[in-house]
Amino acid sequence: MTTDTEPSKAFDSLSPPVWRASTIVFDSLDDFVARRTRQPDGFSYGVTGTPTTRELERRIAALEDGRHCIVLPSGQAALVASLLTFVRRGDHLLVSAACYGALKAFADGWLASFGVAVEYFDPAIGEEIEDLFRPQTQMIYLEAPGSITMEMHDSTAIARAARRHGVTTMMDNTWAGPLGFRPLAHGIDLSIEAATKYMGGHSDLLMGSIATNDAVRHERLRETQSVLGHYVSPEDCFLVMRGLETMRLRQEAQSAAALSIARWLQRQSAVQEMLYPPLPADRGHALWKRDYKTSGCLFSMVLRPAPESAHRAFFDALERFAIGASWGGVHSLAAYYPAALQAARPFARTDQPIVRLSIGLEGAEALIPDLERALAAYGRAADAGATAP
Ligand SMILES: *Cc1c(COP(=O)(O)O)cnc(C)c1O
Repeated sequence: MTTDTEPSKAFDSLSPPVWRASTIVFDSLDDFVARRTRQPDGFSYGVTGTPTTRELERRIAALEDGRHCIVLPSGQAALVASLLTFVRRGDHLLVSAACYGALKAFADGWLASFGVAVEYFDPAIGEEIEDLFRPQTQMIYLEAPGSITMEMHDSTAIARAARRHGVTTMMDNTWAGPLGFRPLAHGIDLSIEAATKYMGGHSDLLMGSIATNDAVRHERLRETQSVLGHYVSPEDCFLVMRGLETMRLRQEAQSAAALSIARWLQRQSAVQEMLYPPLPADRGHALWKRDYKTSGCLFSMVLRPAPESAHRAFFDALERFAIGASWGGVHSLAAYYPAALQAARPFARTDQPIVRLSIGLEGAEALIPDLERALAAYGRAADAGATAP
């Protein structure tokens, strides 16, 4: 890891320079053969990045309380690279049933066909995860709160059990980000973020990061990144570093707005259940309160049962919320997850459709009237649906 690379030393400014390179040059044939460059950190080809990449990795590692970090082209790339590095044919992989959808698609569609035994566990499991361990258990994938359904799990207890058995743990920490929760401090081996969300912060790039305290795992992950050809653009690294400058303020403002909007929503008659651990009524609240420093800008809700046309009316009525996937940016977003998707999941949390909201920087006073209008439209469509012949 190149903490000794300080690109800003070359020019006195507040912003890091953007170094672009496919080719790293060597002084002599001997140096070329030995991959010995004048640069201090073993750069030998552009795929593993430039000093701009290293500077971002250094800053994310510091945020994560980690010694090492690698950035990859997306959050999903970071999740997949972690699994490809540590899981092999014949291994047993334990995955939280509330995991990110594309991760599940990779585990079911690819790892299973490579001969990895993939088993999903109830996110509510704690240290009893030990009962699921086999001699071949290699890795545990954690994510809290879970994608879409927002289940919490006891990361500390699970990490403790895993350590006793030499099982590697990875956690998708995107919901909280390193300012909200630091997985490495809780005994998790790899902390993964979709930098696409809070770190980028402006819905204009994708990136992922993997932080670890283990030098050997870091070397292996760097090898995977290089072998997969997972190059990250230095311009994108620059944009994420710019995003990091305001991340704390954005996250605090967005989280505060999300909490007040969620409190308002839970009082509305069209809302059947809020899925949001910062609310005391949520079943994950105690764990959230124990471990997390932020309420996060992302929550889900289940509306009272109604025909699908009512959900269409809800989304059609939104003016301030854009309809779209992803989250964590300064613009508020609404996304829809159909009932069938939820019901098909192992350890399903609900068999109802889910509406997920990401709260941006527009302010709760601008967003609540939008939701009030959309819930009214939902109610009208639900009543019309209920009385239709
Ligand atoms: C968005 C997201 C990802 C994937 O990140 P991309 O950069 O979009 O690939 C992974 N996990 C969680 C929890 C996410 O929200």
